[in-house]
Amino acid sequence: MKIFRTQLCGQPRPDHIGQTISLNGWVNSYRDHGNLIFIDLRDRSGLTQLVFDPEDGSQKHLMEVADKLRNEDVIGVTGKIRARIGGENTKLATGKIELVVTELELLNKTENPPFLPDDFGQLPNEEVRLRYRYLDLRRPSMQKILSIRSKALQTVREYFVGKNDFLEVETPILYKSTPEGAREFLVPCRNMPGQFYALPQSPQLFKQILMVANTDRYMQICRCFRDEDPRADRQPEFTQIDLEMSFVRRDHIMTMMEGFVRHFWKTMLNYDVPPITRMSYRDAMENYGIDRPDTRYDLKIKDISTLAAATDFGVFKTALEKGAGRPAFNSKRGVVKAIRVPGGAEKLTRKITDGYSEFVKPFGVGGVATVKYIKDPATGEAKFDTGCAKFLEPHKAAFVAGLGLEIGDTVLFIADAYAVATKAIGELRARLARDTGVLPKPGAEGGPWNFIIVIDFPMFERNKETGKWVAMHHPFTAPRDDQVDAFVNANEGDDDALEAIVSAGYDIVLNGSEIAGGSVRIHDGRVQSKVFSLLGLSPEQARDKFSFLLEALSFGAPPHAGIAFGFDRLIMHICGTDNIRDVIAFPKTQIGQDLMTRAPSLVPEKQLKDLCIASTYVPDAPAAASPQKA
Ligand code: ASP
Repeated sequence: MKIFRTQLCGQPRPDHIGQTISLNGWVNSYRDHGNLIFIDLRDRSGLTQLVFDPEDGSQKHLMEVADKLRNEDVIGVTGKIRARIGGENTKLATGKIELVVTELELLNKTENPPFLPDDFGQLPNEEVRLRYRYLDLRRPSMQKILSIRSKALQTVREYFVGKNDFLEVETPILYKSTPEGAREFLVPCRNMPGQFYALPQSPQLFKQILMVANTDRYMQICRCFRDEDPRADRQPEFTQIDLEMSFVRRDHIMTMMEGFVRHFWKTMLNYDVPPITRMSYRDAMENYGIDRPDTRYDLKIKDISTLAAATDFGVFKTALEKGAGRPAFNSKRGVVKAIRVPGGAEKLTRKITDGYSEFVKPFGVGGVATVKYIKDPATGEAKFDTGCAKFLEPHKAAFVAGLGLEIGDTVLFIADAYAVATKAIGELRARLARDTGVLPKPGAEGGPWNFIIVIDFPMFERNKETGKWVAMHHPFTAPRDDQVDAFVNANEGDDDALEAIVSAGYDIVLNGSEIAGGSVRIHDGRVQSKVFSLLGLSPEQARDKFSFLLEALSFGAPPHAGIAFGFDRLIMHICGTDNIRDVIAFPKTQIGQDLMTRAPSLVPEKQLKDLCIASTYVPDAPAAASPQKA
């Protein structure tokens, strides 16, 4: 290599006119005009137009070499900057100038690439992009995401380490299982045959132990691993901003995190986040049917059980009989929930509302009842029409007042046990937002940004499949301060009492997506043991798995609390993309494959033997002979 750049391709400006400079980069595009050859040269910073002009110093032999250059060849050039003769290209930061080449060095010739990393051209499908990720990442828009991500990492450290005295501590990757809900990736240990490490779902226990160890304020930008079922917006490994603080209660940590959100959005997007509203889990579920409500649009849900009880509508009646006598908000108690859709009488056709009944079935409810509130063309009077109109008409005044109805509205009802009806109507609300166009279009910087902190979650819920109690956040989450006694005294068989215990957990929600979750932790070994027991761990099992934690809690654990932000998700919001793979340099596909390196892969039998592992995998087709046998 002889030509070393004196600038980056995105840097030359009219100030440089007349100067001789050198650039290195990739041939982004190529145009031969007979007497002139134009090349756009690209590097991470942008593009500069090169021109080979024999009348302005480009010698003949250069023209011959330039003539053979093709897209993605790697070159170095030296030459003089001049004002662009063909007129300014307003799309480029360097659009006012061009570089007349007087020296050219071919640094590497490119094979015909499978696609050109051109943001304006036709991109191949995502599989091809992932297979040739290095070409895909060459695109300026992908480089921009990488640089946003890098700036974000710096911003995180600036706030926590720089401004707030957190200590960045690395915790192990080879670790032991923690029950945070997901399946774990296991790593066999060659020196201890038959034994396995687990990759961390999160550094949860280490960060709590660090608090016992007097670290006071911990942060780590860490990789977490969860072997969960494939989903479009999930990756088996992802990045978290993991945090823990000692001698704090819920409000202290929420204030610290709110400060972070504000600092992050200001630094990244120059956006001033207004004070963040706290919303209880109960209010979130009541008004939005979900614990991470999207408050960018209204469409609030109403519990109309009392109104519904007065009607003769069988669907309402049957639902309201469920769980009779149980306390309000109990998961099994029957309720009727409604959403008023302004202007729905016109927007929502019969076909659409019929479709909603199908839509909600997977959530366990039989269907959606509907009614329109319109002006009777004959009498000019307001009336209920279609669907369950005849059951509601006798109670019109009460329904109109209770739901705040206006002519032209449609109301959708779901009637079932509290937990089922709430979830189903929450899903329906999100669907309605899409169908009726009330979701705001992102503005210039991706906003509007609606942040909420959701608090007062239940401690436990019953797992739908197994029927066993599970911790709603994780088993290390403490009851809210005023709930400790109720929890300690609760009888393990008393479902209604246990369901009502409120935890000291909190989530930060942005536009309907959870960007962070955490809790005040249990720092009292007895409370921790009771949680383990409720979750079905015998004292022996609890000791076997967590003796280190229980021991640590008994040796002077300070009150502590923590949280983790999903870093990839933050970057998605900042970049305005809904594809998690776009914000990760080397992501995996939905089923967890790395298409570029072809991981995961079979391994030679010898390697398995060394690990005392016998694979029971049998390839389906004879053609796919296992390399293990090779
Ligand atoms: N360990 C939790 C998680 O990964 C976060 C926390 O409670 O701090 O979701």
